[in-house]
Amino acid sequence: MNEHADILLTHAHLFTMQGAGVGYIADGAAAVEGNRIVAVGSTADLTPRFQADETLDATGCAVLPGLIDAHMHTPWAIARGVAQDVAHWMQKALAPYSRHLTPEAALAGAKLNVIEALKAGTTTMVDYTQPVPGWAEFFVQTGVRGRLTPNINALPRGGMAGWKIGDLYPFDLDEGQRQINAAAAFARDWHGAADGRITVMLGPQAPDMLPKDQLLQVKRLADRDGLMIHMHVAQGDREINQMVKRFGQRTPAYLQELGYLDNQLLAVHLTEATDEEAALIAASGVGMALCSGSIGIIDGIVPPSHAFRQAGGMVALGSDQAAGNNCNNIFNEMKLTALFNKIKYRDPTVLPAWEALRMATVEGARAIGLGDEIGSLEAGKQADLIVVDLAAPNLSPVMAAPVRNIVPNLVYAASGHEVRDVMVAGRLVVRAGRVLTADEAAIQAEAQAQAGALARRVAADPVHREMALMGAMAAGQL
Ligand SMILES: [Zn+2]
Repeated sequence: MNEHADILLTHAHLFTMQGAGVGYIADGAAAVEGNRIVAVGSTADLTPRFQADETLDATGCAVLPGLIDAHMHTPWAIARGVAQDVAHWMQKALAPYSRHLTPEAALAGAKLNVIEALKAGTTTMVDYTQPVPGWAEFFVQTGVRGRLTPNINALPRGGMAGWKIGDLYPFDLDEGQRQINAAAAFARDWHGAADGRITVMLGPQAPDMLPKDQLLQVKRLADRDGLMIHMHVAQGDREINQMVKRFGQRTPAYLQELGYLDNQLLAVHLTEATDEEAALIAASGVGMALCSGSIGIIDGIVPPSHAFRQAGGMVALGSDQAAGNNCNNIFNEMKLTALFNKIKYRDPTVLPAWEALRMATVEGARAIGLGDEIGSLEAGKQADLIVVDLAAPNLSPVMAAPVRNIVPNLVYAASGHEVRDVMVAGRLVVRAGRVLTADEAAIQAEAQAQAGALARRVAADPVHREMALMGAMAAGQL
């Protein structure tokens, strides 16, 4: 008796990520009906069982769950590469661009960044930004899974540019309240949209960027509406300095006292957390977003994800922003995460490739609160998967038996350009490396035009003279 499937994917090196490892099935197959996976097994078992409208042959390819990027700021693709190799990254490199970022430039950057990530196999994007018109709509249009987080802070408009390093920031309570209200309205409009493909998290930017009562107000709102909180936590010495000066506590103790440490929190970075603080946060059920590339470039630090995981915490990988990282590519993050931790501990057995792959898939899904829906290929879960062409020279030769080399090569050798097809919620949105749901050329042209205009606005602002990048240009280093 044949069962119906919309799509039957066959002949794959299938990595289901089920169980405690990578769940490999040789000559594997997956049946998809609607937006869900209905069966996973061998091609020999599934082919006679299913009558499929379409068969997708994955011979010579690895098939994995779609990759999860747990922390992005997509608009910043518009300023890719303008803020590296500097001290005081946020204030001295990014802030001048922040105050000249128009909604049009932000949207152009967001579109470019979504396309970049999607083509490199990222199917779930946890995006954090000040919403602009068209942002959420683009996630709906392109068919990617969005976990969208509107930014909330109580900093005066105009931002940090020109502020003295180390001084306490001023708070604008009306601005904080306005942003809380706007985020609540955004959640009402978008949480659960596109058949649940779009969800919303609340995003207090960081504990040092809101007064205590407004931070607590966000927590009450999250608890009331069943939303998770996505927040930068202990993200740099700048934050710790503000916390100690204003609240008399380091961030982890402060958040614990406020009742913020629970499984509804996705804590981003933990750059300045000690191993003990990381373990305390992990034991509270908090998920961690680890941005190895970004924090390496911005701070020169390897965050304490190893201590966090050893305490039982779930860690997801994030690419953060292109004005610093400079790419939004989870293959890159898997490799950097594995390497940086081996180097930090002077131990090549720390963070093996298969663990990095779990952080990008099944473990990452749990960290962001979507563990029941995505992160592994199994019947009942959303059909989010990628087909990676192993014929690429950098992934060849392929060994499957008696020795298997595929996972180490995916983590240490792949660049993301080997991704052939991408499916999200049962819909193919990339085929043969081409995005089917957006006009790539038009998006790149618009981003190019907006980036040029942004650079001219920043250059006309006197604050630009203080920026490290200008000095580097004058010295012939850029
Ligand atoms: Zn961030």
